[in-house]
Amino acid sequence: MNITVLGSGTSVGVPTIGCHCPVCTSEDPRDRRLRPSILVRWDDHAVLIDTTPDFRQQALAAHIEKLDAVLITHAHADHIMGLDDVRPLNFRAPGPLPVYGSAGSIGVIRRTFQYIFDSGPTESSIPKIETHVFDGDTPVRIGALDFVPIRLAHGSGTVYGFRFGEAAYLTDHSGIPAESMEKLRDLDVLFLDALRYRPHPTHSTVERSLATVEELKPRRAFFTHICHDLPHKETEAKLPANVRLAYDGLVIHVGGAAGFRVFRSLAEVPSDFGPCALTIGNFDGVHAAHRSIMNRVAAIAREHGWRAAAMTFDPHPTALVAPEKRPKLMTGMERRTELMRQAGLDEVLVLPFTPEIARLSAERFIREIVTGKLDARAVVVGHNFHFGRGAAGDTATLHELGQFYGFEVEICPAVRRRRYVVGSTQVRKFVSSGDMSNAWRMLERPFSLEGAVVPGDGVGRKQTVPTLNLSEQAGLVPLAGVYVTRTHDLDDGRDWRSVTNVGTRPTFGGERLTIETFLLSPFDGRTPQRIRVEFLHRLREERKFENAEALKAQILQDVKRAGRFLRLSEKFL
Ligand SMILES: [Zn+2]
Ligand SMILES: [Zn+2]
Ligand SMILES: [Zn+2]
Repeated sequence: MNITVLGSGTSVGVPTIGCHCPVCTSEDPRDRRLRPSILVRWDDHAVLIDTTPDFRQQALAAHIEKLDAVLITHAHADHIMGLDDVRPLNFRAPGPLPVYGSAGSIGVIRRTFQYIFDSGPTESSIPKIETHVFDGDTPVRIGALDFVPIRLAHGSGTVYGFRFGEAAYLTDHSGIPAESMEKLRDLDVLFLDALRYRPHPTHSTVERSLATVEELKPRRAFFTHICHDLPHKETEAKLPANVRLAYDGLVIHVGGAAGFRVFRSLAEVPSDFGPCALTIGNFDGVHAAHRSIMNRVAAIAREHGWRAAAMTFDPHPTALVAPEKRPKLMTGMERRTELMRQAGLDEVLVLPFTPEIARLSAERFIREIVTGKLDARAVVVGHNFHFGRGAAGDTATLHELGQFYGFEVEICPAVRRRRYVVGSTQVRKFVSSGDMSNAWRMLERPFSLEGAVVPGDGVGRKQTVPTLNLSEQAGLVPLAGVYVTRTHDLDDGRDWRSVTNVGTRPTFGGERLTIETFLLSPFDGRTPQRIRVEFLHRLREERKFENAEALKAQILQDVKRAGRFLRLSEKFL
């Protein structure tokens, strides 16, 4: 579940009309506060708390396209006056929008927006709303989530906050009754009214809300309904580390981040995928340049409280657009997403690259998928990024669309290793020519193959060293030859120094490509079932020997040289 702060300001908003105080004229975007409201999203659901006079602007900023319900805390003007602006959401929804409030709030809404509830035909569109009164004791259930009304004192009146899961939102209040306090234990996130330092008859203050935090001990607290007395930066500097000022656009993931997630289609993408910092690409190999992009994505996401996300494609777009040029890939999708997780990403969408996707113009690709579906607030890509039908969009197009649709664009410069620009095509060339050290430099890890261990043709078992044959490979394989390698058991973490022969084993009249690994030390226990073989260094090309004896002598020679290489490299790595 995530919570987006749509507005963090008091009833008149900040800046306040006609005011020239330092906060109202501040350059810090966090000092610009719309009227108070939050959006709660989980799975496929979205619930809005209060429809402020700024709702239209807030809905556009948060890319709200559908709502399951609106909950009303109380019917003061700064919390309800935007109700008419739900109309465009009505057009996109099958039925009327449910609005929940206390009997008092619903009564005020029905009088204030009398035209909505008048029976009889109208010539212009009016909101389609279905009002529901809650009694303050029974939770409002939306999807599988209960919103528990929390009774609060707001001056002499009674208003409501809500608790949902491990989060609670208590806007306008001057006091919290004891029985309400009991409902606010064990929270991850607590939002609290903190208007200003000076006392106010109907609102809580910084000091009083700090006392509430002290008593309830939520893991994190955010102050909201803030007036122009509190400059964001200076005020936060005085607060304890677990108490922050909310600001418009802030997104908080409740109960910790959702963990690493991979989605295999657009239909699987949940509503809390974003807001995100996003990168887009094939990312075959997840090499140094990919990782520098992903590190930026993770940094931007952390700074804003967004998710760090990547969109990648399966199959490789070339397979559809120019099948004859389809490259042999270095990383299968599982390995690729695992490397992306290690690079700091939170979620990956593996988009099936279909003819429909290939036909999307650059503009529609951004509008429908990048902002519409994934809610990207920042897009980070490499300098040579192309997208959209016929790869017509480039980084300049992306900048333009970013300005239009309101997301940041960051272009990462080329990354060099020695005299080469790091790129997947270049790494594949190194691997295909057996230049494992340059491949290693660009990947920042040795090139590797993985798969099941399959029975060999029995020759290996007669050798003095344990031999493991790797199953047939769909992807890129190093140039035929003999390599110094390291072998890992993928099931239990054992690893061995090894020598690997890639080739057709001409000494034994073989024709099929085999990848045969000789472990330099015997293994205890069971024979490995699934292994990863890392290619460190090419020793020699594959040769045909007179007989098995000559081959065996050469292998012993290879093992000796491999041992020397490994001792040296382990010393320097
Ligand atoms: Zn208010
Ligand atoms: Zn001011
Ligand atoms: Zn109020």
